[in-house]
Amino acid sequence: PYSRALEIHKQHLSPVETAYFQKPLLLHQGHMEWLFDSEGNRYLDFFSGIVTVSVGHCHPKVTAVAQKQMDHLWHTSSVFFHPPMHEYAEKLAELLPEPLKVIFLVNSGSEANDLAMVMARTYSKHTDIISFRGGYHGCSPYTLGLTNVGIYKMELPNGMGCQSTMCPDVFRGPWGGSYCRDSPVQTVRKCSCTPDCCQAKEQYIEQFKETLNTSVAKSIAGFFAEPIQGVNGVVQYPKEFLKEAFALVRERGGVCIADEVQTGFGRLGSHFWGFQSHDVLPDIVTMAKGIGNGFPMAAVVTTPEIAKSLAKCLQHFNTFGGSPLACAIGSAVLQVIKEENLQKNSQEVGTYMLLKFAELRDEFDIIGDVRGKGLMMGIEMVQDKMSRQPLPKTEVNQIHEDCKDMGLLVGRGGIFSQTFRIAPPMCITKLEVDFAFEVFRTALLQHME
Ligand code: PMP
Repeated sequence: PYSRALEIHKQHLSPVETAYFQKPLLLHQGHMEWLFDSEGNRYLDFFSGIVTVSVGHCHPKVTAVAQKQMDHLWHTSSVFFHPPMHEYAEKLAELLPEPLKVIFLVNSGSEANDLAMVMARTYSKHTDIISFRGGYHGCSPYTLGLTNVGIYKMELPNGMGCQSTMCPDVFRGPWGGSYCRDSPVQTVRKCSCTPDCCQAKEQYIEQFKETLNTSVAKSIAGFFAEPIQGVNGVVQYPKEFLKEAFALVRERGGVCIADEVQTGFGRLGSHFWGFQSHDVLPDIVTMAKGIGNGFPMAAVVTTPEIAKSLAKCLQHFNTFGGSPLACAIGSAVLQVIKEENLQKNSQEVGTYMLLKFAELRDEFDIIGDVRGKGLMMGIEMVQDKMSRQPLPKTEVNQIHEDCKDMGLLVGRGGIFSQTFRIAPPMCITKLEVDFAFEVFRTALLQHME
């Protein structure tokens, strides 16, 4: 069945997914932080299906709620009201500070950011949008203009330009900062275990001002930022940087959008939302992935004022957004995060994990940087600490593959795909972190042989 599956995939499915492993996995089952393949081998899921399975694969409480809702009502479309939607809206709104209380329910992170962009433009009556170099905000034509990282940078054929041609009036702010020397924007960080030791804030603010001033009309509609850049390889900003950037955008009449698709729902441990760790209050918050623990759902939360201005221009409609099934699952996910203290677990186990993996930085010269917050960690691979050149992709691929063969699934990111990304389900234990550590260390030792 394995070779047949590969054949079907090759013939009929998008080629992108097959590139992830030399020997792709055929997964059959999931239970909390563990996944099982067709031969019964088990894998510790240290990437949660790209930072999505927030409370655990097939969490029994979430599954039970979904099954019960399936017997009652699956779908109504967004023109009808139903109790799971109201229950969910109340619960989610409670978790956001004033005046972020109006919720638009959609189905994916890309859709959420598309809608946020429309909101920013209708509210501000400006057109220009700023996003960071290294940011990932989606793969729809609109959000492709915002996304600017590694393999997701698209060149159109016949010299038609890059992806921003699809979505004009998007300008790139600085950042993208990575440890590697080859990264287009170099950081002057000495180390990055905490953003406090970053020395680069002033430099980035100057670059950010330049970007704002090159925007055609100098009239900014909106500014998108991930509280920590995920796809770019878990890249953090210098302390206070985001706060100053928000102020500069607002001076020019723009709104600030926090893309919490990866950082929301308690994953960072210290706060429920990533923007709270920067001490900023966005005008719009977009969320997806962890919101549904793998069930497709997403949301945009904004202020009554911005919501009203959108309603004047557009009757927002979404066939599947906020379906009874999605809302029931969303409520169950929030319930589990609360009942099982998963935000606290992210904080405790995340801190333990970061300290533990930082030990490897001292042991191996090919680990340039270990950074992150809560259960979102990046391990940046280099040829050596002196040169800070990215470790060649073939070598990173091999370590990645070896981890998988020893039962550990980790993610990848960064401009050169040189960073391992770690974001396990939030129910992970310290014992499992120890297992992951041993596997990862063994893969590195094998690599050095
Ligand atoms: N924003 C961020 C920060 C993301 O990481 C992603 C997905 N990687 C998206 C938006 C897009 O989400 P989706 O794939 O659900 O469209």
